[in-house]
Amino acid sequence: MNRRDFLKNALTFAALAPLARLIAREGADGDKIFDLRTGSQVSRRRFRNTALTVPLLGFGMMRLPQKNGGIDSQMVRKMFDAAMKAGCNYFDTAYMYHGGDSEKIAGELLRKYPRDSYYLTSKMPSWIAGSEKGVERLFQEQLERCKTEYFDFYMLHALDATNWELSQKYRALDFLKEMKKQGKIRRLGFSFHDTPEVLQTIVKAHDWDFAQIQLNYLDWELYRSKEQYEILTKEGIPVIVMEPLRGGSLSSLTPEATAILRKSAPEASNSAWALRYVASLPNVLCVLSGMTLMEHLQDNLKTFSPLKPLSEPERKVLEEALAAYRKRLAVPCTACKYCIPCPVGVEIPRIFGIYNQYKINGNQWLFRNNYNAIPADARASECVSCGKCAKHCPQKINIPAMLHKIAGEVK
Ligand code: SF4
Ligand code: SF4
Repeated sequence: MNRRDFLKNALTFAALAPLARLIAREGADGDKIFDLRTGSQVSRRRFRNTALTVPLLGFGMMRLPQKNGGIDSQMVRKMFDAAMKAGCNYFDTAYMYHGGDSEKIAGELLRKYPRDSYYLTSKMPSWIAGSEKGVERLFQEQLERCKTEYFDFYMLHALDATNWELSQKYRALDFLKEMKKQGKIRRLGFSFHDTPEVLQTIVKAHDWDFAQIQLNYLDWELYRSKEQYEILTKEGIPVIVMEPLRGGSLSSLTPEATAILRKSAPEASNSAWALRYVASLPNVLCVLSGMTLMEHLQDNLKTFSPLKPLSEPERKVLEEALAAYRKRLAVPCTACKYCIPCPVGVEIPRIFGIYNQYKINGNQWLFRNNYNAIPADARASECVSCGKCAKHCPQKINIPAMLHKIAGEVK
């Protein structure tokens, strides 16, 4: 499509869209950019083949600024205003973020904007709902907290094999489908934390509008995010990215990895590299960043205004930095899978991936959760030290020794 056709179509779409006041123009990278009459620059992506466009940068509301033991609402107000002004009008909250205060502050602060000028997203935690009635009650509570009549995007929260089972038990998907029919949910998806195998099952269960997955350049192989991205892309399901900075660890990196990035682009932050990496993937609709400081927002807006996809030479630089960073990981496993199948069925790369993630972010809860999701007969403690796997490992990892170490730590 040439520029003229694109603009013609975009303007036709814009006339039909709820965001009719937006004016379309084309970004240097071919991305669609829509101005909120304020001269905003944030790159946007079209939602499937509809008139809807979503900013590539979304405001994650899980790590809002704090003051005196609560959310610093004055600072959040300033950040929301700056985000809206720049066209970053996608806000992602959830029932339990900040103990429920995240949803409340979304309702309080976004109210001053026309409802059709921003997107509000929340999620259904089936494990908290606890029953069919609980799902209904909780959804109603979320609408009230957010002071809204509908959610633009809504998800089954944190699906893994266990939560998927729970949401089926409580008929959460049926209820949410009904809410969609009633217009209280505009687009229905799920957020996900498990293996590509579990993802396949969930993807087949419904005609999802979108999915939210953990995606960043470290997890691309380590956490099997690549496989997850490919499954969703094959199914035509747009991807919303969470943890693009891996809980902030890709912002700080190691001195060696940072030096490599600085040498290539002295002005660019480590975060900018990580965000550009995920946003360069064509099936990514929106990249969520949990912004705690105004400086985070400003740096992110700079990165996305407009987005410059990573060039091939830049990818090579990032690969080099990643290699330097990985040297510091607890287990230098690349998830190549040459070591499997293990004769007794130990899921070696999966265990190492989870363990590395834990060593980087220190999140014990997440580690236990992910580790317990591995079937009992495939865990580290099942290794009988036959040594077959280690012979195949290109990284020369002493696999049985490492598994015993992990099994000991789990105990
Ligand atoms: S050493 Fe342990 S993990 Fe490796 S193949 Fe033998 S039993 Fe499996
Ligand atoms: S062969 Fe080595 S690097 Fe590859 S998945 Fe197994 S442990 Fe990891």
